[in-house]
Formats: sequence, structure tokens, C-alpha cells
Amino acid sequence: MTGPSRLSTLAVHAGERHPNPDDAIVPPIACTATYTFRDTAEVRDHFEGRVQREEYGRYGNPSVAAVERKLAALEGAEDCALFGSGMAAISTTLFALVRSGQHVVLTADGYRRTRQFVTGFLRKFGVESTLVEPGDYEALAAAIVPGKTRVLLGESPTNPYLRVADLDRLAAIKDQHRGSGLKVVIDATFATPVNLQPLRRGADLVLHAGTKYLGGHNDLLAGAVCGDAGLVGAVRDLRGMLGGVLDGHSAYLLHRGLKTLTLRVERQNASALRIAGFLEAHPEVERVFYPGLASHPDHAVAQAQMRGFGGVVSFLVRGDLDRTSRFIDRCKVPRIAPSLGGVESLIEQPALMSFYELSTAEREAVGIRDNLIRLAVGVEDVEDLIADLDQALRG
Ligand code: PLP
Repeated sequence: MTGPSRLSTLAVHAGERHPNPDDAIVPPIACTATYTFRDTAEVRDHFEGRVQREEYGRYGNPSVAAVERKLAALEGAEDCALFGSGMAAISTTLFALVRSGQHVVLTADGYRRTRQFVTGFLRKFGVESTLVEPGDYEALAAAIVPGKTRVLLGESPTNPYLRVADLDRLAAIKDQHRGSGLKVVIDATFATPVNLQPLRRGADLVLHAGTKYLGGHNDLLAGAVCGDAGLVGAVRDLRGMLGGVLDGHSAYLLHRGLKTLTLRVERQNASALRIAGFLEAHPEVERVFYPGLASHPDHAVAQAQMRGFGGVVSFLVRGDLDRTSRFIDRCKVPRIAPSLGGVESLIEQPALMSFYELSTAEREAVGIRDNLIRLAVGVEDVEDLIADLDQALRG
């Protein structure tokens, strides 16, 4: 778009190509599996690159393309490719970047399925990986095998401890391996472009589970990768083969969600910061993990590199597995569910959700205590949320 380019304006207007059919303000939903050609001459024109048009649903959809343009603008990227889920975006991107004999370095505190995909699944294809603790940049630099390491995969903030990657340091580490093809890839699902634009700090690609804040209403699954046109083009080509595409209906919902992204995220930032402060002062709370608090190990990095600290607050309540469950059951406003980023606040006890099949000792070994809570703050009134948490903690 031409004209103003601040984030809220981009969220509303970027990527749109007016006039729409029938002059509708909202682009139509392209609900189609395939696209017709007028004649065989048009087929030839398409394959020989003389006309730009859609061909088949697995290769593109105009409703999806409209959201790709908007999200690329929000990330300051040349291009964006959308997927049917965050994991489809992550797996397709990594498959596009690495091949047998290469190596991935990733941080230990991150989305479990991503970690499993890299350390377990990619291994079957001859791709090795090294896990490093978040914040240990010496270990990260040392883990790079020159000529072999192809991807530095980080998440920022991470799940569930909200560790914030120092993107300047990652860029400096990448610089030491200039010419080796090493790429910095950041899953910024928890940040959104409102709080962090990793491409502006040296990352090569940014990933999103659009299921979370970008969609924002807990009503769709989507994934995205944004970056330069060459890299994203390669991922898009592979999407055409692996097939993890987003459908027109979900693209429409995502498009609508993105329009209010800045409003929602700014509200969630403010509410989460208030709630984190409230929890830190609460006698029934043992510890709070929130990058907006001075007590968080990455507070200084977050202050320097993020515009807001995000809508997720993790904390340890005083008590064991069952007492923690009783606290959750007493909460009346947040719903118990495994996600984040939507308008509804969601609460979960990771020990009983993502890590259910492990014993207490096994969970401790991977850093998950039985009394850990993850609260994904929605857009409800913050006073209602605080009052609700207070009664549930005291109950
Ligand atoms: N990345 C992060 C940080 C996530 O939290 C999640 C899901 O919780 C994903 C990726 C995967 O996204 P999806 O559930 O849309 O596949």
C-alpha cells in the first residue's frame, strides 16, 4: 500500500487490492479447489509466465494470498506463505532448509512438537540437532558446526518460561559464519509483529502459529513463514508438494482477525503486565515468569528489543499437583484449554496438558513443575481477571 505505514494502519489496510468484486469493502472468500482457464492459450500463457493467475488450490488461493500480503507488510518481509497450522509452517520450512548431513541448533525451552520434529523426526532423514539452554549464547555459538549447521532455530518469547532471545547476539553469531548458508529462524508466535519484528533484527525467517494471536479468536488453525522472497518462495514450492495449505474460509477469519491485531495485543500486553505484577506480590504464588518483570532473566533484552512483553504469564503456585489443579478449577473467567492468543483467557497446568504422560520426576527433568500454570490473558476486563485469580488463589 502507499501512504501511512504504522502497524495499526497496515493491519487494517495492507495487502488489500481495491476495488473488490461488487465494490465490497471486504475481499470475497475464494471457496474453490481449482481455477478455470478460458482456453488452452491461457494455459500456455500461465505456464510460460506471461499471465499471473491461480491454477490449483494447493498452489494458491486469492483469499490466502491477500492475508499473505498483509502479514508480510506487518513483519516488514518481502513475502509470506501461509499454512493450515503452525506445525505445517514449521515442518515445511525446516524441510525446505535442511537436507541429510546437515545440522540444526535449537533452544531447549520451546514448543514441544517443534522440538520433537527436529530432534526426532528430522533425525530419520539424516539431520542432526543440538539443543541449547535459552540465554546460553556461548553454548549456542559453540554448537554450530561450520559447514554443517544450516539453521539456528529460536522461539521468542518461549513456551512456557517466556525466555526472550537476544536477536542482536544471534545475528552477531550468524555473522561469524557469513557465507556458510546459516539461517536464523525465529518462531515469534508469542510476540506477534506488534511486539517484535525479528526480520528487522537480523533473522532470516519468522514463523507463526497464526492459530494464536494473529487469528486471535480461538476459531482457526493457521501457520505462516515470512522473510525474503527467495527463501519464502522455496518454502511455498514445497508447500505445493507437502500440501499443508490454508483454506479460503480460515484465510477469511485470519484476515478479519489481523485487522484488530494491534488493539488486541496492546490490551493483552497491558493486562498481562498488571496480572504478572499482581501475582508476583501474591502470598500464594511462589514465582512468576514474565519478561516484563524485573525478576525475569531476560527483562533487559525484552526491554531493549520488544515493544510489549506479550499476553502469556507463567507462574508457580504454592502447592502440589492437586492443589494447583484445585486453583485452576476455582477460576471462573479463564477457560481450561491448551492454546493462547485469543480473546478468551485460557489457563492450563502444563503437567496435566502437554506433559500428561510423564511422571512428576520426568516432568521435573524437562523443567516442568507440577505447580506450574500458564495463563494466556485474553481481552476481558483486567480487574475481573485479577479478582478471579485472587479468589481462586485464596480459596
Ligand atoms: N509454535 C508455538 C510457539 C506454539 O505455541 C504452537 C502451538 O501451540 C505452535 C507453534 C504450533 O501451532 P499449531 O497448533 O497451529 O500447529
